[in-house]
Order: sequence, then structure tokens, then C-alpha cells
Amino acid sequence: MTEKQDDLPKTTFAALGLGPKILEAIEEAGYDSPTPIQAQAIPHVLLGGDVTGIAQTGTGKTAAFVLPMIHRLEQGRARARMPRTLILAPTRELAAQVAENFEKYGKNLKLEMALLIGGVSFKEQEQKLMRGVDVLIATPGRLIDQFERGKILLTGVEILVIDEADRMLDMGFIPDIEKICALLPPRRQTLLFSATMPPEINKLAQRFQKDPKKIEVARQAQTAETIKQFVIKIGRDDDKAKRTALRRAIETRDVKNGIVFCNRKREVDIVTKSLNKHGFDAAAIHGDLPQAYRTQTLDRFREGDLKLLVASDVAARGLDVPDVSHVFNYAPPPKDEDYVHRIGRTGRAGRKGESVTIVGPDDEKSWAGVMKMIQTDVEELMPEGLADELENLPEDTGGRRGRGGRRGSSSRSGDSKGGRSRGGRSRNKPREEAPAESAPAEEKPSRKPAAKSEDKPAKADKPKPSRNEGRKGSGKDRKRGKDELEPAADGVRGFGGDIPDFLKR
Ligand code: AMP
Repeated sequence: MTEKQDDLPKTTFAALGLGPKILEAIEEAGYDSPTPIQAQAIPHVLLGGDVTGIAQTGTGKTAAFVLPMIHRLEQGRARARMPRTLILAPTRELAAQVAENFEKYGKNLKLEMALLIGGVSFKEQEQKLMRGVDVLIATPGRLIDQFERGKILLTGVEILVIDEADRMLDMGFIPDIEKICALLPPRRQTLLFSATMPPEINKLAQRFQKDPKKIEVARQAQTAETIKQFVIKIGRDDDKAKRTALRRAIETRDVKNGIVFCNRKREVDIVTKSLNKHGFDAAAIHGDLPQAYRTQTLDRFREGDLKLLVASDVAARGLDVPDVSHVFNYAPPPKDEDYVHRIGRTGRAGRKGESVTIVGPDDEKSWAGVMKMIQTDVEELMPEGLADELENLPEDTGGRRGRGGRRGSSSRSGDSKGGRSRGGRSRNKPREEAPAESAPAEEKPSRKPAAKSEDKPAKADKPKPSRNEGRKGSGKDRKRGKDELEPAADGVRGFGGDIPDFLKR
């Protein structure tokens, strides 16, 4: 049966059955009460049941599986090469994030953890695996590589977690997951988390889970009430007009920090460059950028050293960046439901946030789709001066005017239900890559091997390549490796300054 978050009575972490050492860590983390997914999942996981959690990042889903796992791991001991639990995550960043959660919540317990992801020296992780780990966190490609090299035995896995399953699907990882599941003991607990439930994930759940409790905490079409949504309809389709509108929006709203979402990697680069040129503190993140750069950029953004993160959906989805004041959509996303994911980056944990979506005539069809899905009125906004600016904007200039101080936008409520200019969407698009309709632009199913290569070590990660690393490194990886050279701390590369503590030990 599916349970929804609505009207659930408030409970406490202690009432969920977690041990005192874990409760202590929770208190230190500053959490008052469990989130809906935690309240529903934790007791069930503690009893050993399977869970299918339909939840996005920001709902507290990581703690929903990490906390009861830690509780269960308190009993028993790890054996050499045989991890007791396995967590599969689609990207390095997510895997590292889960690892941080284990560190945080498991700080009062003696649990051993290993991380198998690209950019982390395998040697150290191998030593840990040899000694025995309670938790192994891995990206699927990397895990299979190491398994095939005989470094890991998966027959001792008691709990399997598949995190961000829909994203695994987007990245072409489902065959790898099936393969991994077949290597695990059939008598195990399987927890699957996914922001959405496409048929392929449903099938995966049916095949590998036993009578799972289905917990759904945020319907796809829901947008948090803490997010004030705006749309700027610019009435033109050229990129200069869009960039002008974006700048105006950033200048006129009270932006502490924000994420600017673009639909294409190229767009991410161009918008970032343009913002920088106009004096904005912005940096790009997308799948083609070197891992080290991505990690450093995210760190800077998280720590408040960077005001604007310009991102593609794939690069940003799933990442926990707390306290973002604004989300800007350079255009509505190709997939309507990504709108909810995008704007869900702000207005978290009861905080107030704003989203501003820029819509040109070519975007109207996409915008109408979003409107239909969210069933919420979105206020139309025309920042002061923008209308004139757009009108006078010559085709060949950046059209920048004086910045700063111009608040008090002349917002006007409009009929924002969209649908005004249907069908014109592809007119101006051929200059760019084809829009990613069915899969995120950067890890298309057709580029399966490339998607996997995200989890493989780049050349810079390995001054002396191990057998495995030499085996499959692609030319692209090798080329990219140059940019990834960075000082190695404790043999751990690719994390910038964000090396989880346990890796340094
Ligand atoms: P997640 O959905 O797992 O990515 O978590 C989103 C954010 O919520 C993280 O920064 C967590 O630290 C935080 N969080 C998790 N559980 C709670 C809770 N019960 N109360 C407040 N914040 C929480």
C-alpha cells in the first residue's frame, strides 16, 4: 500500500526504534523530528522489510535508509572482502554524499566503510575491503569492475540500497544493477529510492524486491508552498534577450545564491561566460567538465563562496545543496517533471525560496506542459526596465545597462496558464544540440559507455595505473585527465577539498 505524507501524526526519532548512539548523532545534526519518509521508512527497515521510496532529494531520504542501516549494523561484524551492506548510487557526487551521511550519523559507532567511485584511489579502499567493511558505497560500473577483478565478494550483503534509481535508468545503469542483484544473496533486504517511478524502475522493483512497502512522499507534480514561482515572458526567442532577462531577474530579486538551469551543456557554458562577463559571480557545472572542477565548484557554492551555479539537470539533480534562495530556469525543462526537481532546490525545509522561469515564444509549449502538471498559478514578472530593454535590444549587442539597486519589480499578475503559442518550439533550436526530450542531455542512453566513464578513474587519478584502470580508460578520459590534475591528499583525488574524512584516515 502506498502511504502519503499528508496528515501523518508527528513522531520522534526515539519512537521509531533507533538506538541511543544514533539518537545522539541525530541530535547533534540538529534534527527535531523525522521527515515523512523517515517516519515511514525507518520502522519498516528496522524490521528487515523491503522499501520502495518515491522521494526526491531534499525529503531526507538518505537518512531514511542510512539511520536504520546503521542501527542494524551495530550488531555483527564485517568479514574480509565481504561487505555487509551495499549502496549503489549513480554518480560520484551522490555516492560521496551518502558516505558523508554515514559519517555524520554513524560517528558514535565503529563502522567501517569503503567507497568505490572514480577519482578515489582504489588501493586504500581495497585495503579496507580486505579488512572487512560494514558498508560499501559504489557506483555500479566501478563495482562491477572491481568484482570482476576478484576484489570483492558480494555474498555477504544483507542490505542493498539502490539510490536515485530513475537517474540510474537515465544513465544506462539498469543492466549493471541487474547484474549486481544477481550476485547478491537472495535472502537480503532491498531498499530502492527514486524520485519518479517509470515502468522500468517498477519492473526492477518487482523483480528484486519482496513485498516492498511503497512510500511516496512527494508527488511528482507537487511544488512546495514555500517556493514563490515567477515567469518572465520575454516575447522574443534570441539568446541575447534571454540572457538580458536573466541578468535583470538576478539583479532585481533578492538573490543570496541561486542555481541557473539550462537545457544544454553548451547553453550552460555560454550563460556562465555571459554572466561572468557582466560581473556576476557564476560558475558552470555539467557532465563534460572535469570531475575535480565540478567538485570544487559545488564546494564553493555550498560554502557560500560562489553566488550562482549554472547547471544542467543531470549535473545538479540529486545533489544536496541546502539553502538556495533562487532557482532560475533559462528555459522550461524538456521534461515537465524536471521543473519540480529544479525549483525544489529552493524553499527547502520550510525556508522561503523563489523560482524565476524565462519563457520565449518557442518555450510556450513546454511552459504550458509545466503549467498543466503543477496546476498552480505562476505570477508573471517583468523586472523594471526589462520591457524597454528588450524592445531596444539590437540583435548584435549584449544590451547591458547599469546594474544594481533597482528593486521593486513591476510584477503583474497575468494569465500564466500558458498555451499561447503552441508548436513553435523547434524554430530556433537547430543551432544547438537536439533537445534532450527523453533523457537528460548529457548522459543519453546512446552514450551508455560515456555515462559509465563518469565512474571510471581519469588518467590524472592514477600516476601509476592499476590493472583495471588501464583496461578500460577511454581516450576521452585520458584527454580529460590533464585538467583533473590536482594535489592529491592522502592518495584521494577528484574530490577537491571535499574529501570525506573517512578516506583520509
Ligand atoms: P536528502 O533528501 O537525504 O538529500 O536530505 C536533504 C537534507 O535534509 C540534508 O541536508 C539533510 O541533512 C537534511 N535532513 C535530513 N533529515 C532531516 C530531518 N529529520 N530534519 C531536518 N533536516 C533533515
